[in-house]
Formats: sequence, structure tokens, C-alpha cells
Amino acid sequence: MKVTIDGIEIEVETGKTILEAAREAGIDIPTLCYSEAFGGQGVCRMCMVEVKTGNRKRFVASCTYPITGEIEVQTKTPELEEIRRNIITLLYRRAPNSDLMKKLYQDYSCSEVKGVDPEESCIMCRLCVKACEKVGANAISTVLRGTEKRVSTPFDEESPECIGCSACADTCPTGAIRVVEEGGRREIWHKSFEMLRCEKCGGYYSTLPVREHVTEQLELDYADDSLCPNCRRKKLAKEVAEVR
Ligand code: SF4
Repeated sequence: MKVTIDGIEIEVETGKTILEAAREAGIDIPTLCYSEAFGGQGVCRMCMVEVKTGNRKRFVASCTYPITGEIEVQTKTPELEEIRRNIITLLYRRAPNSDLMKKLYQDYSCSEVKGVDPEESCIMCRLCVKACEKVGANAISTVLRGTEKRVSTPFDEESPECIGCSACADTCPTGAIRVVEEGGRREIWHKSFEMLRCEKCGGYYSTLPVREHVTEQLELDYADDSLCPNCRRKKLAKEVAEVR
């Protein structure tokens, strides 16, 4: 099926989202709550684009809009720039401590606004919750409502479900989740974990509950678990080279 994005005609498979089609064609659409690993959520609305079908024009979130017919898409118009500027202003107001939001606020020349809490970095994109769900831990979720809404463990306490994988922090676009790694221990979400150490390079790389989780819950063979992923890769490459 043919679609036109920013005047460029592109052949796409039915069901692909506008964001996927645009990125495949090398057209950049800004996103905040999108992750290649989890797909679109349509939460932040940064990826809004203008879609024209016949005489009808409307704004849609490109990360969740599947292409099912011939459409014309614009990704950069003055109206879209204004929509994105308003979104960034609101998110910056919520999370003024985030370097990403500070940069976007400047890049989009947003009108001056003060942050509610100068220490806040979370924009409530929910990527961390999604990452935790995908790992199968379900240790964090959104709590409270309205302006009080935030991500946390139940009752802001140590969660028995948390395995200390730090997938939430790795996914967070704004660096809002605090992870401290010191002296062979990882602290995250009010919990402290002993870390696994690679027998080969000596680097710390994961936690014991992660190893147990991968082995038991996902039923994967965690062979060579005394090695970090990097050393495991090198070892495998060496073995393959020796066989050839
Ligand atoms: S902590 Fe990060 S990933 Fe989680 S909702 Fe906030 S900004 Fe998004």
C-alpha cells in the first residue's frame, strides 16, 4: 500500500504504524514514551502527526496509528510544532530536573514556565512500568491520582517482586529512577541486592534474583552464568571460530 509522508511516497505493509513507516523511510518523528522494545503507548503525544484522508484532516499519535488505507501524512507543520511545544512545556513543568526535558524546553523555545517540584524528573511516560511487566516482575506501578500521580512500589516499600534487574531505569528516558551501585551491591526501589561478579573480567553485571528469574520463570538455560554477557559473547565467538 502507498502512503505519502512529508511528500515522500512510501510503500508500506498494512498494519504498520505511521511512526514505524516514517522511521523506516528515514523521517524522524520525536517521541518520549515510545520504545522499540515495547512499541507505542500513545501516552506522551509527542509523536502527533497530521493525517489527511480525502478532504478530512486530523491529528493522531503516530506510534499507535496503524496504516490501513492510503493516507497523506505531515510530520512537521507549524501546528504540530505548537502542539509539541505545549506538550514539552507541560512535561517540563512536571519534571524540571530532567536533563532531557531541559534540553527539549530550550530546543523548542518554550515560553517561560516554572517547575512545580525542582527535584522531579519523571514525566509519567510509564515506560518503566511496561519494562517491569515485560520482565515478568510487576514490582512497580502508577500510584495516586492527578498531580500526585507517580510510579512506585506498593506503599513505597521494598517489593518482594523486585529482582533488581534495573530494566526500569535502563528504559527511563529522563533518568528519573535512582540506581546506586557500590561495593558489589545494587540499590533500587528501597531494596539492596548483592551483585554477581564475572569470573573472567571481575566486573559486576547483574543480581542473584535476576539469574534465578531467568533460569526458573523464563525457563531459559542460563549456561555460563559465572560470566558477564560481554565475556559470554567473547567466549561463544571464540568457540565458533575454533569449530570453523
Ligand atoms: S520513571 Fe522514567 S520511565 Fe518511569 S514513568 Fe517516569 S519518566 Fe517514564
